[in-house]
Amino acid sequence: MSTIDTQNIIFYLPASMFLLMACSFFLLWRIGLASAWQWSAGFLQTGCGFALSSFPIEPSFDQFVSGILYTGAAYCYGSAILLHFGKPLLQRARCLVALGFLLPHGLLVLVVPRLRWDLFLIEIVFATLIGMVIAKVAREAKRPADRSLVFSGLLVVLDCLVRAIVFTFLYPTSNEMGDFLHSAYNISVHVTTITVCLLFPFSAVAAMAAAAVQRQRMVAEHDPLSGLLNRRGFEAAVSSLRGAEHRSGAIILCDIDRFKSINDAHGHLVGDRVIVAVAQELSRHAGDKARVGRFGGEEFILFVLGATEPEARDLAEHLRLQFAARRWTEAGLSRPITVSCGIATVAPGEDPLDESIDRADRALYLAKAAGRNRVRLASAQPERQVDRAV
Ligand code: GH3
Ligand code: MG
Ligand code: MG
Repeated sequence: MSTIDTQNIIFYLPASMFLLMACSFFLLWRIGLASAWQWSAGFLQTGCGFALSSFPIEPSFDQFVSGILYTGAAYCYGSAILLHFGKPLLQRARCLVALGFLLPHGLLVLVVPRLRWDLFLIEIVFATLIGMVIAKVAREAKRPADRSLVFSGLLVVLDCLVRAIVFTFLYPTSNEMGDFLHSAYNISVHVTTITVCLLFPFSAVAAMAAAAVQRQRMVAEHDPLSGLLNRRGFEAAVSSLRGAEHRSGAIILCDIDRFKSINDAHGHLVGDRVIVAVAQELSRHAGDKARVGRFGGEEFILFVLGATEPEARDLAEHLRLQFAARRWTEAGLSRPITVSCGIATVAPGEDPLDESIDRADRALYLAKAAGRNRVRLASAQPERQVDRAV
């Protein structure tokens, strides 16, 4: 009856873990998570490197090939991290480090075999390849999952550097290739890999998932034509802007006048261009304290935090005059484009905004009824008139 050799379990664990991770990240890549194939390639190489120490073939061969595999893995992890943060791949600098490793590595394994110094070299190159990438992206890490990825990358770098110093200078590893398998160095690599370094792949999954959620949220909350917030995004943005204290502000509803005739006369494409141009103009003039959304076909909405009614009216008048003065010849239009606006204030604590939006909509209707190309305030309308407008 065979017994379980606990030391061998330590040797088998990283190899099987990394090979499983390579498969999992490959599947994640197949379902569209960006940068996952580079992670998969990195884990595959790390797993193969560990497999060579669990199932040794010939000491020099194992050492030579595993050194190349670990360096390849560090290169792939670096690419995955840079891609995740949308940074340039630094290919020239990183290739220089990775390829520059090959010559001394070949010498230290095949020509003048020095296991200790070759392990030192592998650790330093691994730390350099990860370290230069972490230094490049550290400032970009804003989401908690991204910070965790940067932190776990730093842990990996630290792990390599500490081991390089300890097993080269304090407790030097034997220089015999055949002594590697049961060396304190090899056991330390396995132990730290299945403990602290595990944070690295888990952080990678979390960072990719957080980025995917953010991408989906962007799609769900924005209008693809104009790039402005859609209704759902606008409501979410306004509630985060107003904060817990429910500060006051103003709603401005803006509708392009006789837009249907632009479509009819010049086609849908020109109509789309006009919508995009109006959206850009609104965003440009709205300012930091405003949130701008596209509420319907040719209808736009602004919430201006802290704006009083006169301030909102001034802004709307400014926008109206800008549109009326603009020439649209580049869009193929000979006549000016005008907008009508309806304004309603939002009282502190008024939540949700539906009530104010409804009042602004009725004021907008009155602006249209009065001949278009004008601004109307909900508060300035006699109740009866506003009611008739419904
Ligand atoms: P009013 O001055 O009363 O606002 O008249 P209008 O013609 O602007 O308003 P109406 O509601 O009659 O027509 C709006 C048109 O907007 C109808 C629709 O075909 C067009 N529209 C809605 N969404 C889009 C879009 O995404 N692109 C384009 N090109 N047209 C759109
Ligand atoms: Mg219109
Ligand atoms: Mg409309």
